[in-house]
Amino acid sequence: MRILRPFMFLLTAAAVAILTACTTVPGTGRPQLLLIDPAQEARMGFQAFQEMKRKEPIVKQGAQVKRLRRVGKRIASAVELRHPKEVRHAKWEFVLFRDPNNVNAFALPGGKVGVYTGMLPITKNEAGLATVIAHEIAHVIARHGGERMSQSKLVEVGGSVLSGALGGKSQTAHDLVMQAYSLGTRVGVLLPYSRTQESEADHLGLSYMARAGYDPQEAIAFWQRFSRHNRKRGDKQPEFLRTHPLDRTRIAQLRRQMPKALQEYRRAKSRR
Ligand SMILES: [Zn+2]
Repeated sequence: MRILRPFMFLLTAAAVAILTACTTVPGTGRPQLLLIDPAQEARMGFQAFQEMKRKEPIVKQGAQVKRLRRVGKRIASAVELRHPKEVRHAKWEFVLFRDPNNVNAFALPGGKVGVYTGMLPITKNEAGLATVIAHEIAHVIARHGGERMSQSKLVEVGGSVLSGALGGKSQTAHDLVMQAYSLGTRVGVLLPYSRTQESEADHLGLSYMARAGYDPQEAIAFWQRFSRHNRKRGDKQPEFLRTHPLDRTRIAQLRRQMPKALQEYRRAKSRR
């Protein structure tokens, strides 16, 4: 039972951290833990993106690149209107990476968005592309990267607290607890959180694309195409699938959020 003490300590440390670092996600109001400074977070994003651009082949010109930048800018401007504070550190950049087998896109803190050429046939049209970009921009605005980093910081702190507290015990007991601990964190904390973030990016993204004047109903068509594609490919892309909500859940959620998104879309259209 003595083993409980480090856990109590960890819980207290976590509670203190949460009390001092808890904010809410703009647009959904979900409380989130952020232990990282937004400027620092953005700098880490810039660095990582720089490195990716150095290492991976990029499409530098042509109609596809122009379209990606145009759609990206249009959504970023709509988001800036709505969240001026949250975009303070963003230096928007939309880069097309050349990899026809990679059906993927990503976003890094600081407004760096990457789309792989393999994603383009599935996006099919501008509104499809807008769905992907808006989802990625939502990850940036909701600071999902910083949130993940904060979570792993807590996990790190918790791990070292445990390791120190168990220093005098036998190696076996130590290993067992450490194993149980990392398993517990992986299954109990990190994985569901990530699905929450993905649903949140869908939700916010739907609103962003609508506000930028793209028909939000195209988001459902896009995720259906994406789902069909993944079914055809089997489980060749397990990583992306595992971290993304199940297609049926995702589409049902988008349908529920559609009436509000359609209102935002009509308002945006009447302003244009
Ligand atoms: Zn995502």
